[in-house]
Amino acid sequence: MDYWSALEVYREMVLLYLDQGRLQVNTHCSDLEPWQIIGASVITTLGAVWINGFLFQQESLLSRIKKLCFRLVRKIPFVGATIQTQLNKALDDMSASLCTLKEGMSYTKQLPSKGLSQSQVLDKIREYETLNEVKWKNGCVSGTVYWGDESLTNLLVKVYGDFAWSNPLHPDIFPGVRKMEAEVVRMSCTLFHGGPNSCGAVTSGGTESILMACKAYRDMAYERGIKYPEIVAPVSVHAAFDKAAHYFRMKLVHIPLDKKTMKVDVKAMRRAINKNTAMLVCSAPQFPHGIIDPIEEVAKLAVRYSLPLHVDACLGGFLIVFMAKAGYPLAPYDFRVKGVTSISADTHKYGYAPKGSSVILYSDKKYRHYQYFVAPDWQGESTPRPLWQAPGPEGSSPPAGRP
Ligand SMILES: *Cc1c(COP(=O)(O)O)cnc(C)c1O
Repeated sequence: MDYWSALEVYREMVLLYLDQGRLQVNTHCSDLEPWQIIGASVITTLGAVWINGFLFQQESLLSRIKKLCFRLVRKIPFVGATIQTQLNKALDDMSASLCTLKEGMSYTKQLPSKGLSQSQVLDKIREYETLNEVKWKNGCVSGTVYWGDESLTNLLVKVYGDFAWSNPLHPDIFPGVRKMEAEVVRMSCTLFHGGPNSCGAVTSGGTESILMACKAYRDMAYERGIKYPEIVAPVSVHAAFDKAAHYFRMKLVHIPLDKKTMKVDVKAMRRAINKNTAMLVCSAPQFPHGIIDPIEEVAKLAVRYSLPLHVDACLGGFLIVFMAKAGYPLAPYDFRVKGVTSISADTHKYGYAPKGSSVILYSDKKYRHYQYFVAPDWQGESTPRPLWQAPGPEGSSPPAGRP
């Protein structure tokens, strides 16, 4: 038998099977009324959609089953009570160790019936100061206080006093605050070698800077059609990334470190990249060991897979930018590296500003665009305000119409 007649026989057989199948289905359905067939189809389809949704959620089925089991175990009378007793004990121990009250002190729970005089308020404030048991001015509180010296404190207090009632929400009334923010951002961009399109925002702290970057990249991922965006980050990154993942419904994929160098394992990072990856992260340096991740290598991945790369320089950002000048050159870690799209750096750490300030910087305005939240229909704002913009880099004139 030649090739063509074999193909012909094969074709005949397939058609025969199809026809038989059709007949079988039809005989099975011959007793059914059309509404039954339609009803069964609709119910089956809905059921399949539900099962698919139940099985494939952002949190894995296994993790959900574990949680459910634990909840059920806690409902068993004796077991549940024992667990609760242990939990209470742990909580009591914790509150005992955190107890800030001294002998004879109590908490104020109501406004005083008669207002305090200014000197009474100051006395009261001194009382709070005496609660400190650790003398932080002697040092040894790494990661807690980033202190300049007495003269810096005096300057900060003076500046704070002069601007205590300013409101950055109203740049029309406080243009100086707006100028200050724009200049802090531009100076930071310059320190981190940002190009003319680099930009950013001042935030209330490192956590908020990180939240903003993750929010921006999540929205970018949504726009690319990714339903369940993932953050791929070294296991050594700050917990702010866990918080961002939790707040913004993202999945945080932790990448192990190289055991010798404590830098992120770049190969493992590459393997973790998939169609849901929304962003990559490196730290410069990370908090647990003070190590700078291999940013140039990770940036190559970012470029190869067209992903944004955030460098968390919250802790040491304002130190590493001066390392070369101090005679300790580092491998490039900032916008000089192609692929680095954002950097967080805490002005309230080695920027020596008081707590409550940080910057988030982007290599290009297109990234910052996704950070903004806009609610144009809110009834509280009748006149639209222009979004503020950092001044151009040194030497270029600011855009017309901007202060
Ligand atoms: C401090 C820090 C942050 C952010 O912490 P905040 O307390 O919110 O300022 C993020 N990453 C690293 C590495 C940090 O050291």
